[in-house]
Amino acid sequence: MSSNKIPTVGFVSLGCPKATVDSEHILTRLKSEGYAISGSYQGADLVVVNTCGFIDAAVEESLDAIGEALAENGRVIVTGCLGAKGDIVQQTHPKVLAVTGPHAAKEVMAAVHAHLPPPVFDSAHDPFSDLVPPQGIRLTPQHYAYLKISEGCNHRCTFCIIPSLRGDLTSRPIGEVMKEAEALVDAGVRELLVISQDTSAYGIDVKYRTGFCNGRPLKTRLYELCQALGELGVWVRLHYVYPYPSVDALIPLMAEGKILPYLDVPFQHASPRILKLMKRPAKSENNLERIKAWRAVCPDITIRSTFITGFPGETEAEFEELLQFLEEAELDRVGAFAYSPVEGAAANALPGAWPQEVREERKRRLMEFQEDISTRRLEAKIGRTIEVLIDEVDEEGAVARSAGDAPEIDGLVYITDGEELEVGEFARVTVTDCDVHDLYATLAAEQAKH
Ligand code: SF4
Repeated sequence: MSSNKIPTVGFVSLGCPKATVDSEHILTRLKSEGYAISGSYQGADLVVVNTCGFIDAAVEESLDAIGEALAENGRVIVTGCLGAKGDIVQQTHPKVLAVTGPHAAKEVMAAVHAHLPPPVFDSAHDPFSDLVPPQGIRLTPQHYAYLKISEGCNHRCTFCIIPSLRGDLTSRPIGEVMKEAEALVDAGVRELLVISQDTSAYGIDVKYRTGFCNGRPLKTRLYELCQALGELGVWVRLHYVYPYPSVDALIPLMAEGKILPYLDVPFQHASPRILKLMKRPAKSENNLERIKAWRAVCPDITIRSTFITGFPGETEAEFEELLQFLEEAELDRVGAFAYSPVEGAAANALPGAWPQEVREERKRRLMEFQEDISTRRLEAKIGRTIEVLIDEVDEEGAVARSAGDAPEIDGLVYITDGEELEVGEFARVTVTDCDVHDLYATLAAEQAKH
């Protein structure tokens, strides 16, 4: 590298929204120190690959991405969940320059400094304010952003290795979270997606310590956080919420329109015996009663959940119990995963492992069973006028999302006459039709006049 060339880093970001947030933090630090970010392997002096190591397919994808970066560029630093899984990275790719685990911006920066020193600025130059927007660097579109409120998890679900990769729950100070949220909103974000491994546990590790937001005392607790976020005037969507009794207090905030009437609650199963084998949080709650009570307070609430099929020892009767639960719970959105034995997970030692075909076949049956229920829930919206946030616009109309649709995992709202709308704006539309996942709509009368 010649001395006057700006040191340039390539970046590959894989994995879940939590990994995306880690990538955003690293990119923000790189930019703030004056590094340039390259969109190609060839234009970069080295490449950082943020990996995922959750399931075997993700491990393979991550190893392939590292191999590609090595072949195309040759100088590669690896970070993320795969980096925390023993020495699999070094064994497969001995040429990588350095390997760190997830949530390790400091270690990644140290490795970058060692292999590609930052540029030297004169003292009048403040690289942070000159090069980095106040909201940091983000990888999501301009109008929505993930807001990570904690790292790690205190649970030990037997199918999961995240606590061994990311450690115990560490909540971010509420003042810091609010400052980030306000900066995002100032920068034009219209929807904040609150994420963590266990959102409902926010603040438990710091005993709900009081923090400060613009001089105002605020407890480090989900309820207080939702209240404060609800005052920012944007959509606030909660992900990874477990059905603890404390969640009930959030539902009135949804009914009052302070936060979106949307709960992403990963139930994973309905049979008490399987939930116990899974060591799930809040496993003894009566979830059907709870869902009924939530809907009584907030009839418009959208409930999304995920389930695992073919867990070791799951009998046919227990699987049927899960289907029965779905029938009664009438969840709006459901995702299913065939049980996948993750290396290092305690569940691998449980008796009664099912062959892949059984796990997959149950997944297929579950999704087919749920299809009618999800369609019925969407059909009930036909004829109603709802608010949507516009994601894309072209000459054929606009693609948007409603309060019931989280980006990338739920459905979409197709607005057939929405070609004049703008990305990132809210609009009122009338629902005209639906299929299993998506809604079709036209501009509401009051919107069409604008
Ligand atoms: S709650 Fe369970 S599944 Fe979720 S991160 Fe913690 S241990 Fe893993």
